[in-house]
Amino acid sequence: MPELERHSFDVLVIGAGGAGLRAAIEAREHGMRTAVLCKSLFGKAHTVMAEGGIAAAMGNVNSSDSWQVHFRDTMRGGKFLNNWRMAELHAQEAPQRVWELETYGALFDRTKDGRISQRNFGGHEYPRLAHVGDRTGLELIRTLQQKIVSLQQEDFKEFGNYEERLRVFQEFTVTDLVKDGAENGGSIAGAFGYWRESGRFVLFEAPAVILATGGIGKSFKVTSNSWEYTGDGHALALRAGASLINMEFIQFHPTGMVWPPSVKGILVTESVRGDGGVLRNSDGKRFMFDYIPEVFKDKYADNEEEGDRWYTDQANNRRPPELLPRDEVARAINSEVKAGRGSPHGGVFLDVSTRLPAEEIRKRLPSMHHQFKELADVDITAQPMEVGPTCHYVMGGVEVDPDTGSSSVAGLYAAGEVSGGMHGSNRLGGNSLSDLLVFGRRAGAGAAEYVRALESRPAVSEDTVTEARATALKPFQQEGGENPYTLHMELQQSMNDLVGIIRRQAEMEEALQRLEKLKERAQSLTVEGHQQFNPGWHLALDLRNMLLVSECVAKAALLRTESRGGHTRDDHPSMDAEWRRKLLVCNVDENGVRVEEKPQIPIRSDLLDLFDRTELEKYLTSEELS
Ligand code: FAD
Repeated sequence: MPELERHSFDVLVIGAGGAGLRAAIEAREHGMRTAVLCKSLFGKAHTVMAEGGIAAAMGNVNSSDSWQVHFRDTMRGGKFLNNWRMAELHAQEAPQRVWELETYGALFDRTKDGRISQRNFGGHEYPRLAHVGDRTGLELIRTLQQKIVSLQQEDFKEFGNYEERLRVFQEFTVTDLVKDGAENGGSIAGAFGYWRESGRFVLFEAPAVILATGGIGKSFKVTSNSWEYTGDGHALALRAGASLINMEFIQFHPTGMVWPPSVKGILVTESVRGDGGVLRNSDGKRFMFDYIPEVFKDKYADNEEEGDRWYTDQANNRRPPELLPRDEVARAINSEVKAGRGSPHGGVFLDVSTRLPAEEIRKRLPSMHHQFKELADVDITAQPMEVGPTCHYVMGGVEVDPDTGSSSVAGLYAAGEVSGGMHGSNRLGGNSLSDLLVFGRRAGAGAAEYVRALESRPAVSEDTVTEARATALKPFQQEGGENPYTLHMELQQSMNDLVGIIRRQAEMEEALQRLEKLKERAQSLTVEGHQQFNPGWHLALDLRNMLLVSECVAKAALLRTESRGGHTRDDHPSMDAEWRRKLLVCNVDENGVRVEEKPQIPIRSDLLDLFDRTELEKYLTSEELS
């Protein structure tokens, strides 16, 4: 057996998207020797794909905006199931995090008087998304990387070594977390994984690990997510003994490309609607006016004239229903297509060409213009796009302490899309990039303080390392089993068809039966070749995570007998105030995945006072209201 490569750090950050990088910067600034590990090349993460912008109540375009209004919008968007403390911290701290990015070198688009420009997005009462055209995530990642380089330069001056306190390990996949094997469940002691290129194993020893691994979209067939988003962090946390919450809530973004088939699911940014794009069905009707839910009726225009006027006079008109929260728009598109009023390739039409001059579209939406021209031969300055729902974001994730990002396992932290709670049952667009920065920073600080307070460092249990290695090598040691690609395709199809945008009891039960069989079949997966760059092997290891996380999603979705946000039940079509008081929590023990109810902590009264009583009546029980 080749000798195991070993490294030792104070804080390990798994993931190099916005959450991971912000966490790493904070841990390093607290003096911790910090490592960042990422599955793909440094800089390639979901965050880099983010288009529309970062939500922060800076009030640059409309001075009526404030953290209180942002908090209200976030709670409404999440249908009051949000962890309200997270929503409060997020709304309060997002502006500071955006301004801080400028000190790192970010260059946002500007208003005419030179402030950071902010654009409209669904569910946000005021223009709130700071942006860089439709390539905001790229600027965010570029800037955070630049900050990391500047910290490394400081270390070079001080220690003669750029990587003394901040080192990046790219194209490295973590397969298991390692604990110290103590009786009481143990503390985090490090992480185990492999170099994707050589397949060689590595053990990282560290008393604190921050998960920042992003989402789970690759378990669904039609998704805006890229190959990396296989729910690794969710599964690592579960196997280490932490719990996940809100896993039934998956965001299906209303507008993904539907054609040609090779690009189905690729995102069409919400900025298209924010900048005036309208949705029409095959009859040419702007159908969203038929889908304004009761809870939003006073906030959205009920006729085209008022909706159109809003773009130039927001003080005296209500916003158009194309800007309803994503769950509402996705369901409406789904219903239109089902009713036979869809576009030729099974979507609906999204048109910005009738609102903005061609030059303005090319300026504001350069990536969308390029994407449609290159991939579908559609010129969005003159033609409508065809769009439909695509699996985009998971609201559920590791249950964390809002202030520090700590999980229930000592030494384990989570931030960004892999964590749960902040967005409740549905995330508002733009609230992820701000979430990454606010809670990435908090998790970095939380982990640093934890390490500083330790009296002794936990020792890695060598048995766990041996077990992690054996699990990773298992697919090579079996013969005659199936290949991982077949299983992955079947998993994606099942999740898409049976636990997708509209759910029914019988279908979810069938999904769970199929998942059981897939799990059995996965036990005897076989991969050809050897450990050097072997995509089949990588997928076999990712599949273990996808199956575990998919089971959490399906079990939680089956239990929640109401419709709320990113969880729509055909057989329970309404929201139920009693269910808002309950969170579903997933754990794993020797008997497998367990999903249980847990009471939601009641919202602090000063935060409740930010809402009208009539609005609260739509969400709260009469007992709570009294
Ligand atoms: P990610 O950026 O997803 O990064 C995850 C990191 O974890 C990667 O480095 C990956 O390599 C690493 N990783 C994963 N598993 C492992 C493993 N096992 N071992 C080692 N490393 C691992 N949100 C907004 O707020 N505004 C927008 O405009 C917006 N637009 C979007 C557009 C698109 C196309 C998409 C897909 C999403 C968009 N979002 C947007 C959502 C937002 O981009 C993501 O939710 C967010 O970037 C997630 O950031 P993160 O730091 O949590 O994880």
